[in-house]
Amino acid sequence: MSLLQTLLISVIAGAVLPTEQITRNERAIFSTVTDTRPVLDYIALEKDDCLARLTKRGIEQLEAPPVPSIDAPLRLPKLLRGVRFEHWSAPMRSAKVPRPVLDCRLLLSLDDMAKVALRHDVAAIRYNSLYRGRYARNPGQRHAAGVAIDINAIVTTDDHELVIKRDFAGHGVGSRTCGLGAPWPLDTRAATLRQFVCGLDAAGSFNLILTPHYDRGHQDHLHLEVRRGIRWRITQ
Ligand SMILES: [Zn+2]
Repeated sequence: MSLLQTLLISVIAGAVLPTEQITRNERAIFSTVTDTRPVLDYIALEKDDCLARLTKRGIEQLEAPPVPSIDAPLRLPKLLRGVRFEHWSAPMRSAKVPRPVLDCRLLLSLDDMAKVALRHDVAAIRYNSLYRGRYARNPGQRHAAGVAIDINAIVTTDDHELVIKRDFAGHGVGSRTCGLGAPWPLDTRAATLRQFVCGLDAAGSFNLILTPHYDRGHQDHLHLEVRRGIRWRITQ
């Protein structure tokens, strides 16, 4: 898609003209008024409405210290719907360290991720990083705002660890990841991993899903984000 086409689509969709390089990526999709993906609901929630949503779902609200760049800071529970959310490194899993801090909107999306995990026989999500960096370049965006998680591996219910770096079996930077025309991996582990990633894409609870297909910086993890203030999404 040409830059001109992208700009026209963004104007039609009522979006702010894209200024970031990512929106010029041909995989970026601008939302329309008929878009009903949950992430659009979550990014529009005010703090109190988001917390009320957690209460309604019965999600544990673990108190976190105030973080200037996070609007509604909480700690990530160990379990969501019985799915374990644990650190990727074994020493960190056994260390007595406080649970990671995240924003309320990401917690709603991780609860949705747990539903997808259960459908795909995934017992644990292994992350490397959630909140990091002290200052959000734009409020409500990226790791500094607590709305992003980097996942390095998942563990299936029969106790196989599927590691992004080893098992993703991608088709190179720039490849399509999900949907029609996406090259599908032949390896069983890679196919299981891909089905989970594409299950997350279909659930629509994140507006950024970046895999090893996205760029060289994402060869060993998935970046999933509930970025506020945007009307586009990308899964690659
Ligand atoms: Zn990330």
